[in-house]
Amino acid sequence: MNVTVMGLGVHGGGAGAVRSFCRRGARVTLTDRRTEQELAEPLAALGCEPAVFKLGGHDPADFLNADLVVASPAVPYRHEFLEAARSVGVPVTTELAVAAAALPANVATAAVTGSNGKSTTCALLHAMLTARHARLGRGAAWLAGNGGGSLLDRMDDVRPGDAVVWEVSSFQLEYLAEVQFRADAAVVTNFAPNHLDWHGTLAAYRSAKQALLEHLRPADTAVLNAADLDVRTWPTAARRVLFETRICPLPGVHNAQNAAAAEAAALALDCTAADAEAGLKTAVLPPHRLHCVAERGRVRFVDDSAATTPESVIAALEALPAPLFLIAGGADKGADLSAAAAAIAARTAGAYFLGTTGPRWRELTLAANPRHPAIHCGDLPAAFAAALTAAEPTGGTVLLSPGCSSLDQFASFEARGAAFAALAGSYSASSSRE
Ligand code: ADP
Repeated sequence: MNVTVMGLGVHGGGAGAVRSFCRRGARVTLTDRRTEQELAEPLAALGCEPAVFKLGGHDPADFLNADLVVASPAVPYRHEFLEAARSVGVPVTTELAVAAAALPANVATAAVTGSNGKSTTCALLHAMLTARHARLGRGAAWLAGNGGGSLLDRMDDVRPGDAVVWEVSSFQLEYLAEVQFRADAAVVTNFAPNHLDWHGTLAAYRSAKQALLEHLRPADTAVLNAADLDVRTWPTAARRVLFETRICPLPGVHNAQNAAAAEAAALALDCTAADAEAGLKTAVLPPHRLHCVAERGRVRFVDDSAATTPESVIAALEALPAPLFLIAGGADKGADLSAAAAAIAARTAGAYFLGTTGPRWRELTLAANPRHPAIHCGDLPAAFAAALTAAEPTGGTVLLSPGCSSLDQFASFEARGAAFAALAGSYSASSSRE
C-alpha cells in the first residue's frame, strides 16, 4: 500500500502516522512544505525510515498515485493537492480518523471540542478515567489528539476495557465529518468566534464544530455548556447533559467550568463522583496555562502563552488577583478584541503589547479608558522590560496572556512561553545575586 503522509506536524500526528504505517509494511512517502533543515528536530525523533522523503514542497504525483493520503489537520481541508487526490478517488484522511477506526471493540471514547478549554478539560477527564481504572485494578485511559499526541502510534497497546479521550480541534473536525466520527461522550466546552481566518465565516466555523455531535447515537451523551446560549441549543440525537461549574483546585471560573464538563463526561463513562474528585486532585495540566514560572520578591511571573483567544485573556484576568501587569498581542486571527480590551482597561494596572495586533490592542484599550497605561512595545523582551519596570515598585503579577497566536514572532505558543520563562528566570536569578 502506498501511503502519503502530508505534514510532519508539531503535535506528533504526522510522525505517529509515518511510524504506524511503516511498521505495517506500507510504502510511506513523507511530504512537508518545510525543508529538511527546518524539520531537523522532528526528523531526528522519527525513529523510522519512510521509503520517500519530499521536503521543502510537494509533488502532485505523490497524491495522485497514492492508495491513501493522511493529511495533518494543519493542512487546509481544501488544499489543492488533497482536492486533486479526491478527484481521482484517492481517500484523504487524518491520523485521528485512522486511529479511531482502528480502535479495538469495547473501548470507551470521549471527544472534546470547543473554542477554549479543550486541553484542560481533556487532561481533567483523562485523570478521572485513570482514577476509575486504578480503582477497578484494570484497564488504562489514553489521551490523544492535540495535547496527547498520536494514538495510532500506541494502538498496539490499547486493549478492550480501556478508555480514550480525543482532543478534537475544529481543523480535525472537517476531516472527521466525512468518516462519521462519534464518541460515547462528546463535550463542547464553549463556542466563540475564533479561527475565522481559517474557516472564513462564523457559520462555517460553527458547523465544523457541530459536526462532533452530528453522528452521535441516542445512547451517547452530548455534554454541553449550560452558560453558552449558542452551544446549549446545538442539535444532536444523543442524551444531552448541560454542565455548569464545580469546585476545582485550578484558578478561575473557566476552570470550574472545565472541571464540570470533564466530570459530566466521566460520569457518562461510568466513573463515580469519587473518581472525578480523585482525578481533579491528580490531574497534570499541560504547561503554558496560567503557570507561575518564577517569583522574585513581590513579583510573580505567570505564563499563559496558550491563551491564543480574547476569551482566554478575559478568563486569566478574572482568575488572578490584582495588581496585574499584562503582556499581550501577537498574530492576527481576525478575532474581535474589543471585549478583552475593555477587560484589560478595567482589570490591569498596565498593559504592554507586542506583535502585529499590538497597536490595535493599545487603541482598543485606550478607547475603553483613555488614561490606562497601555503601551505598544513591539516584541516580548521590550514588553517584559516595561511590565517589570511597572511591577517592581508595587509588586504584583506579570502575566503573559497574549490573546493571539504567536506565529508572527515565534515558532509556536510553546516557544513564546519558553522565551517568557527564560526572561523571568534570568531576572529572578540576577536579582537573587544582588
Ligand atoms: P484549548 O485546548 O481549547 O486551546 P486550553 O485548555 O489549552 O484550551 O487553554 C488555553 C487557554 O485558554 C489558557 O490560557 C487557558 O487558561 C484558557 N482557558 C481554558 N479553559 C477556558 C475556558 N473554559 N474559557 C476561556 N478560557 C479558557
